[in-house]
Amino acid sequence: MTITYDPAHAIPRPARWEVLYRSSGPFWDGVAAGKLLLQRCTSCGRWLTPPRPMCPGCQSRDHEWVPASGHGTVHSFVTYRRSPHPAFVAPYTVVLVELEEGPRLISNVVGVTPEDVAIGMAVDVVFANVADDFTLFQFRPAGQ
Ligand code: ZN
Repeated sequence: MTITYDPAHAIPRPARWEVLYRSSGPFWDGVAAGKLLLQRCTSCGRWLTPPRPMCPGCQSRDHEWVPASGHGTVHSFVTYRRSPHPAFVAPYTVVLVELEEGPRLISNVVGVTPEDVAIGMAVDVVFANVADDFTLFQFRPAGQ
């Protein structure tokens, strides 16, 4: 199952292109380049997900962007049977993936029917160019 991105019903993207881009910009630049980058505090080593300008653990503003393996497991999921927006064609499944590095990311899963998604399922990241200037990270069952 895949999310069909319909440009005719595009969702506004103020978070990526405006205020939040200051913190999450390197993450999305990585996604556009086919890399999954995680922000980590260089003072205390805490993962900063979602990206942010200051570490909530030690208040340091020093951080680095670390390439993630892209491997993880489904921590939780929900399948939408009705679309909340015309840009998304139901049914589709939203997953909370726990990366092997520890942070959890929300995305969708492709290459599997909603009925076959399970908690604990091993997944790998994939990248989908859904528009000329827009790439998404998604997950698929590991080994596909
Ligand atoms: Zn810190």
